[in-house]
Amino acid sequence: MDRVNIHGVNISNITIREAVEKIQEWISGNSIHSVYTPNAEIIMQAQRDPELKNILNNAGLLTPDGAGVVLASRILKTPLKSKVSGIDLVKNLFETFSGKNVGFYILGGRPGVAEIAAVNIMEKYGKVKIKGYYNGYFSPEEEDHVIDLINQSGTDILIVGLGAPKQEFWIHRNMYRLSCKVCIGVGGSIDIFAGKATLAPEIIRKLGFEWLFRLIREPRRYKRMMDLPRFIILTYKKRIFKK
Ligand code: UDP
Repeated sequence: MDRVNIHGVNISNITIREAVEKIQEWISGNSIHSVYTPNAEIIMQAQRDPELKNILNNAGLLTPDGAGVVLASRILKTPLKSKVSGIDLVKNLFETFSGKNVGFYILGGRPGVAEIAAVNIMEKYGKVKIKGYYNGYFSPEEEDHVIDLINQSGTDILIVGLGAPKQEFWIHRNMYRLSCKVCIGVGGSIDIFAGKATLAPEIIRKLGFEWLFRLIREPRRYKRMMDLPRFIILTYKKRIFKK
């Protein structure tokens, strides 16, 4: 698969359709694969954390979540085909596998939220098989139990919304003992499915101003968001000095 190097993070150069097809292929296979959807903030965190960078680069699929990553790929003259956000990918998977024998498990969010998300998803996507759900605030002692529940549920696709980079570390650490086929890190998407958070309107997302929408909604994120201008500056530096 074609990958585009954005500051040492090798992003998959695919469309959402191609990502769904890849996941479809993995479901009929025998091994487990990880899917992460890094945005500019996570790529900047990976600059400071080699372990995170390594985990990202070892993912089966690493899709660009956010206009910033796609913009950087263009500035670097190695354009990515399209933005593939975690939420859009998961929505496409629900549509594709509705009525099929493919099971999902929802892990993450505050107690009660994953359950509401599961109900809403089944309502919206009809015959989607949600095999189970669990909140994302379990203790280290509870972890074995959570893994057992996921494995016993016979799920194919595990949706993990513990926030980034917690979910990436969690998936990486537990993949060897999970019996599903695909693990996807989805950030705050479970809250969105549960109606606890709202996505920026389509027009704002298309114009690439989702970050501004989030900043207004969640001002506490401003510190993390300082990584956005740093990301763009780093990108221009790389383009100008070609290193
Ligand atoms: N979360 C969780 N367990 C934790 C920390 C966070 O389940 O220990 C959930 C939280 O409830 C929210 C999501 O992870 O649903 C974090 O969303 P956020 O928007 O902060 O993540 P991002 O989209 O930036 O990855």
